[in-house]
Amino acid sequence: MSNIENTKPANFIHQIIESDLEQGKNGGKVVTRFPPEPNGYLHIGHAKSICLNFGTAEKYQGVCNLRFDDTNPTKESQEYIDSIKADVSWLGFNWDGEVRYTSDYFDQLHAWAVHLIEQGKAYVCDLSPEQAREYRGDFNTPGRNSPYRDRSVEENLALFAQMKNGDFAEGACSLRAKIDMTSPNMNLRDPMIYRIMHVQHHQTGDKWCIYPIYDFAHGQSDAIEGVTHSICTLEFEDHRPLYEWFVENLPVPAQPKQYEFSRLEVNYTVTSKRKLKQLVDESFVSGWDDPRMPTISGMRRRGYTPAAVRNFCEMVGVTRSNGVVDMGMLEAAIRDDLDKNAPRAMCVTQPLKVTVTNYPEGEVEWFELPKHPKDETMGMRKVPFSRELLIEQDDFAEEKPRKWKRLAPGDAVRLRGAYVITCDEVVKDDAGEIVELKCSYDPITKGQNPEGYKPNGVVHWVSAEHSVPCEVRMYDRLFTEENPDGDKSRDFKDYINPESLVVLKDCRAEIGLQGSQAGDRFQFERTGYFAIDADSTDASLVINRTVGLRDSWAKLQKK
Ligand code: ATP
Ligand code: MG
Repeated sequence: MSNIENTKPANFIHQIIESDLEQGKNGGKVVTRFPPEPNGYLHIGHAKSICLNFGTAEKYQGVCNLRFDDTNPTKESQEYIDSIKADVSWLGFNWDGEVRYTSDYFDQLHAWAVHLIEQGKAYVCDLSPEQAREYRGDFNTPGRNSPYRDRSVEENLALFAQMKNGDFAEGACSLRAKIDMTSPNMNLRDPMIYRIMHVQHHQTGDKWCIYPIYDFAHGQSDAIEGVTHSICTLEFEDHRPLYEWFVENLPVPAQPKQYEFSRLEVNYTVTSKRKLKQLVDESFVSGWDDPRMPTISGMRRRGYTPAAVRNFCEMVGVTRSNGVVDMGMLEAAIRDDLDKNAPRAMCVTQPLKVTVTNYPEGEVEWFELPKHPKDETMGMRKVPFSRELLIEQDDFAEEKPRKWKRLAPGDAVRLRGAYVITCDEVVKDDAGEIVELKCSYDPITKGQNPEGYKPNGVVHWVSAEHSVPCEVRMYDRLFTEENPDGDKSRDFKDYINPESLVVLKDCRAEIGLQGSQAGDRFQFERTGYFAIDADSTDASLVINRTVGLRDSWAKLQKK
């Protein structure tokens, strides 16, 4: 990637790596990995982990693996695997070699479990899950040894073989590491390392009916892959002594070191696959890629750019202190990118018909407007003007408020890039609704105002005949509360913003949008940044609002 990234100040993990490199540790190599469980779609928090793991490897000319931690087949699926691969690629990163799976190492992990038994460091335990919980004690109470703890090596080997052969029902027994039931660290109280699950696995089919616990698989997988710096989030700090115990007690090929950083949390949303899955399963959103979701696929569909998401992750930094990041910061990163890179266009979201009575019927005039006001290299666009136009209903007021900068009876406004028009007459239907404005244009105002000419303001418009029908989906934050999880007596779903999606059906966009492809992005003048959705049809474009032009929430919060 660019050199700029290489000159960024080092975060604490980079400092550790630089010192390791100076000391010649790991043969001067840097190997990281991103290890998602394929049990859901990735979210903005994972984006931070991806940027850190892949970005670190890039920065130090190392490699980063993509490894699916697939030890819990009942919750996992190929759909999630595919989505995760697509999301990592979309963010702009390449994993080293083929995608890897913890299940690739099931044979090795099984052999290591047998090794622990042979060393007298693991045993088959027949306590039920409830009993095991009771024996485990709690934070204040030391645990008690399982009555099965002192089984002989031979007996344990035989029982473990039976577990593997499918002789026992799920939950009948499990394999546990023999460490210390009185350890102040609960993770060291003889943790389970293998359990019976009579289920098919998406990668290994019906080969196994016992599966390693994540904690047993994770560190060893890192060791197999020669990961030099195992980067993970802080909640695994307490698990580190267990990972180290495994590595010390097994003939693993390498000794990876784990470093923890704080999870990314963003306000007005949730970053937990379990909760996001609830939103999907209970149809609060249209799917994992609903543009309101903080998922990478949702953000992509909404029009966020990979560069903006990467910049945001860079801005929030990598530390060990927990904190919640303002959604406004993510939105600002998006706005910043789109302001520079999105071509401009006009789109009328709630059309009001304007007839330019002194403009000849059937005549069309093509104005040339820049695609970007500050970037000439984007070139020009052609915008047709005709007798029948559409403007935004909101840009007209019959009774104008003070300081009104738009159209009102008798007033003149400039149509962006075209002429100044004056409103001569307001036409209403039987119900008293305004259905049309009759206006006149002033030919001497073509393109720009002659000296001394002062229209009231500038509004956007399209030619009624020469415009593209579209549906605009206006998205807002998914939750009304900064911390939807904050009140434990309430369900986070109680705080869903009822106005997080407003669909505007009869919008009309500038003719240049004809033929736009899903993913194309625009700034619609005066309204915000938008992206074409894959739901678009030949008859109508579907357009997602990515983000407004300004942070309207910041204003609300100040009030
Ligand atoms: P969730 O809590 O959403 O289910 P998870 O931690 O179970 O997430 P994994 O698939 O295990 O999800 O995560 C893969 C990697 O992404 C892990 O290394 C994990 O530490 C990291 N990660 C997950 N959530 C965040 C977050 N909010 N911020 C930073 N990194 C995260
Ligand atoms: Mg996890």
